[in-house]
Amino acid sequence: MQKIRILDQEFEVRVNKKKVKSLRLRIKEKNILEITTPWLTPKLFIEKFIFDNSSWIVHHNQKIKNKKNIRDLKSLEVLNEKYEVEIKKGLGDSLVIIDNKIFVNYKDEENVGDIFDKKMRNLAGKLIKEKTLELAKKYNLKYERVGIKNQSSRFGSCSFGGNLNFNWQIILFPKDKFEHVILHELTHLTVKNHSKDFWRQLAEYDKNWRENNIWLKKEGTKRFIV
Ligand SMILES: [Zn+2]
Repeated sequence: MQKIRILDQEFEVRVNKKKVKSLRLRIKEKNILEITTPWLTPKLFIEKFIFDNSSWIVHHNQKIKNKKNIRDLKSLEVLNEKYEVEIKKGLGDSLVIIDNKIFVNYKDEENVGDIFDKKMRNLAGKLIKEKTLELAKKYNLKYERVGIKNQSSRFGSCSFGGNLNFNWQIILFPKDKFEHVILHELTHLTVKNHSKDFWRQLAEYDKNWRENNIWLKKEGTKRFIV
């Protein structure tokens, strides 16, 4: 384990060597960086990579300052529906949802976040795909594919080819904000940028677009758990 200072803040750096093509970086928890690197990446490269991304790191680290430790999670709201969360040490990693309870078992405490990330993503994928299809039909919009990711600070994106990507954690938003994110990306199918035309178009789909957009900027990432 290695410590590094970036603009007066101390970070713990966890390096994961894997069969990947390029370096990847994420903030695992407040002040903990996780770097995934190809085998045989020199330490100097890793350090340079961290410093090249230092402003991104500090910016995003600040955003997660209020995030609680995921192991202390007692409840979770999924599209306005409240779930009780029970996290326990067990023989393996699992996440099961029964009625309004989420049961999580972990073998290694460090993996609790990854368990949520993996298992909840499946549920999210289903909810997001259903809603996207429903809204696209309603407004007669055509997209190619829906991908589900964890883009850390982004809620969604739309490619020039008409592929939509969503951060799975948008299911942790209230329903109207969740729909707003989907409508935002659907609007990009016709208007790629954030011009006046874009907002005019989005306003037709979501009359509360302004309040919803403000909420997202202020509260959005605070709802994220991993
Ligand atoms: Zn946009």
